[in-house]
Amino acid sequence: MISLRVLFIAVPLFAISIPCIAAPLAQHVVVIGVDGLTAKSVEKADTPNMHALMKSGSYTLAANSVMPTVSGPNWGAILMGSEPAVNGIHDNEWKLDKNNPFPTIFRALRTSNPGATIIAAYEWLDFGRLFTNQDVTQRVNAIKSALQKDTSENAAAHYIAGQAARLIQEKKPQLIFIHLDMIDHAGHTYIYDSDKYNSAVGEVDGLVGAIVKAVDAAGIRENTALFVIADHGGKNTGHGGDTPEEKTVPWIVSGAGVVQGVVERLQGDAIEGFFQRWRQLAHILDAQLRGDVGPLLDRLQPGA
Ligand SMILES: [Zn+2]
Repeated sequence: MISLRVLFIAVPLFAISIPCIAAPLAQHVVVIGVDGLTAKSVEKADTPNMHALMKSGSYTLAANSVMPTVSGPNWGAILMGSEPAVNGIHDNEWKLDKNNPFPTIFRALRTSNPGATIIAAYEWLDFGRLFTNQDVTQRVNAIKSALQKDTSENAAAHYIAGQAARLIQEKKPQLIFIHLDMIDHAGHTYIYDSDKYNSAVGEVDGLVGAIVKAVDAAGIRENTALFVIADHGGKNTGHGGDTPEEKTVPWIVSGAGVVQGVVERLQGDAIEGFFQRWRQLAHILDAQLRGDVGPLLDRLQPGA
């Protein structure tokens, strides 16, 4: 629980318990998964949209990835609410057992609410190997697109964020998971936490803002819970190891069902299964992120 101590030192005020006030329950969940986003960069880069969510919701800048600090095992841990030792995803070469897929939050919501609109929009194509077609209503990836015409460095991230924003307005999904990969590319290319990397973080913060605006435009902001999370950080131009730079990531949650400073149980009928699953497996919804990140870290630390 080293990170827990770090959090207390970094933000001692948040250790004071904050009174729980009943917040509206969430009927929609928007998860923005930012691949390779370091906790440090959230503070160092120009991130007004992430900070607005942090201010209005709950967050930790001291969450830990599972080991190894590689994308597949960590997105798997997040989607499945389980550790690599349990779900078997130890690397990016892992392949889904289509006959016996490990349950995901998508599956949990699909089971509890067969009519739910569940969308996965992802830049990293291998993210799409973590779940089945039956789990989601719609997949959006960066293959079928106008990307061939747009060869700019971050075209795929902008495409995915744009499609997600459009679908949020058109379909008002119960759950949309948006995976953006451009920060991780920037880390591998320009060194994690470098100026150029932080500039890319600022660009992704703009995409976060556009997605929040789409939630507003859809008229569902009041009953939407928004997450900004990351799988791992990075050091120099890589990740996979056990250093704080590679392991320490931000988790931010704001919106319906979330009391400022305290994550409340989110039990909107439409998403009850999703949250029950995540709560059972991940304990996340009882975590008082600013006062007690223990349950969250339990979820993120291997073997806990
Ligand atoms: Zn990753």
